[in-house]
Amino acid sequence: MELKKIWLSLAQMGGQEQQYIHDAFDKNWIAPLGPNVTGFEQDLKDYLGENCHVTALSAGTAALHLAMVQLGVGLGDEVICQSFTFSASANPIIYQNATPIFVDSEPETWNISPTLLEKAIIDRKIKTGKYPKAIIIVDLYGMPAKMDEITTISSTYNIPLIEDAAEALGSEYKGRKCGTFGEYGVLSFNGNKIITTSGGGALVCKSRERAQQTIFLATQAKENKPYYHHKEIGYNYRLSNICAGIGRGQMKVLPGHLLRRREIHSLYSELLADVKGISVMQCNRRTYNSNYWLTCITVNSELLNITADNIRLHLDSVNIESRLLWKPLHTQPVFESYPAYTDGTSEGLFQIGLCLPSGPSLTNEDIERVVAELKKRIQNHKCQ
Ligand SMILES: *Cc1c(COP(=O)(O)O)cnc(C)c1O
Repeated sequence: MELKKIWLSLAQMGGQEQQYIHDAFDKNWIAPLGPNVTGFEQDLKDYLGENCHVTALSAGTAALHLAMVQLGVGLGDEVICQSFTFSASANPIIYQNATPIFVDSEPETWNISPTLLEKAIIDRKIKTGKYPKAIIIVDLYGMPAKMDEITTISSTYNIPLIEDAAEALGSEYKGRKCGTFGEYGVLSFNGNKIITTSGGGALVCKSRERAQQTIFLATQAKENKPYYHHKEIGYNYRLSNICAGIGRGQMKVLPGHLLRRREIHSLYSELLADVKGISVMQCNRRTYNSNYWLTCITVNSELLNITADNIRLHLDSVNIESRLLWKPLHTQPVFESYPAYTDGTSEGLFQIGLCLPSGPSLTNEDIERVVAELKKRIQNHKCQ
């Protein structure tokens, strides 16, 4: 019998998405902009709560790029970026012909180390005579970064912060929503993220003027004239009205999805509590209320004599998808020539970490099957 496939993180529709799309068809709002776009932006703004403004875009990567553009990042500038992340966090630095400076993580949240961040800032000033132009931090796997320490450093050196919260919609640090901590915040609605628009993202910013500037840049920088008139280079980065319709439907199921991701994390924690050599990644929930986009474990290979990849391969053989952690950017061929301030933390985590299936549609039985197979692989080794 074919075993049911258990995926890492599947998108799950709530039911109302098609309604919004039908509305768009009925009213002939197939053109890029329309009521679903503004409705989705308003929903996000209401959800994030803080004094923020949201612009819906075609991708999280586009949001990062427009943050770079608006901060004036260009040739000759350096931008600090958390190394332990997806390549999309750093690519827009290169789009702007600037230089990425990678900074390692600390072991508690797996996000940027405040100590190494400050060290990097001071050292770049000594080496180049100027401070980096911006700092990109990430809430990896939904876990908020050490915001108090990071925002203090950002204001001490007067370097704007960009919070890449692509994986962290719904996460909170000390009760405040991720995506609202920087000058700019980035959300993603790609297929595998917390909610999806079948591809999309958003830029969160602090004022209406900046949101308007984001829309201006995202719609080809057309000046307000009866003919096409351009004083700046623009981009075609706006979210379509159809995709925004999916987003509006997804906002209705967001609370339920968050609840389920967190339940799944708790269930894994319970089921794996007595398994020596396996730890479930977690932080004190009062400070770091992660959405647990993905539940991650670390494997003590010395104790168990197997690696995270041995477990991944076994799970794969029984139709369960798991994934190794992000490979640190400072070790990627495409980025390894850039300066990096590291202490081995993210490289160490990359060796021992594994993301387990965490999508909201998984049943408790699915999670139990994952854990049973994981235990089987560990036992097998002990018997050999
Ligand atoms: C997914 C992701 C992005 C990019 O978002 P897209 O919408 O896919 O462009 C950026 N940063 C991180 C950390 C991500 O996980």
